[in-house]
Amino acid sequence: MTHDGFLTTLTDVNSFDSPAQSFVSEEGVPNARGRVLGGSSAINAGFYSRADRQFFENSGLGWDLVSVNQSYEWVERAIVFRPQLRTWQSAIRDVLLEVGVHPFNGFTLEHKVGTKIGGSTFDRSGRRQLC
Ligand SMILES: Cc1cc2nc3c(=O)[nH]c(=O)nc-3n(C[C@H](O)[C@H](O)[C@H](O)COP(=O)(O)OP(=O)(O)OC[C@H]3O[C@@H](n4cnc5c(N)ncnc54)[C@H](O)[C@@H]3O)c2cc1C
Repeated sequence: MTHDGFLTTLTDVNSFDSPAQSFVSEEGVPNARGRVLGGSSAINAGFYSRADRQFFENSGLGWDLVSVNQSYEWVERAIVFRPQLRTWQSAIRDVLLEVGVHPFNGFTLEHKVGTKIGGSTFDRSGRRQLC
């Protein structure tokens, strides 16, 4: 349930008390999924972003975008935090910019072309938050 336990959970799949179970995707990629209340959100990396607006427009479903935005705002008040970048997150940001993934959008929860710092469902003490 903490930042520090993230990798341990993924390397300790399938044991009796592990919240993670291994599987192989239809494309043949080895992966893990949550077998616990909260599902894979209980074992994931906690990266949070709003969807691309085109996702709603192209889905073929009649989304009520006012409700969608109100839902985003509720989730973001409840469980989304601005992350403190550690060494590896800073390194990935710098690598993306160095190889030309521009522009740099800074911290934003919106879906943006380029590089950005997104939200995290780990709070400031490193504890995972679930709805
Ligand atoms: C390692 C990892 C990192 C990820 N990182 C991110 C990230 O940073 N940001 C992001 O947005 N997404 C991330 N994801 C993806 C995201 O977590 C999943 O897409 C999402 O949780 C899927 O939700 P779901 O409700 O469809 O399925 P799940 O969350 O998998 O829920 C399925 C639930 O059903 C239960 N279940 C299954 N079969 C049965 C059964 N027969 N009987 C009873 N219960 C059953 C399972 O135990 C589980 O609780 C990550 C996923 C993984 C594995």
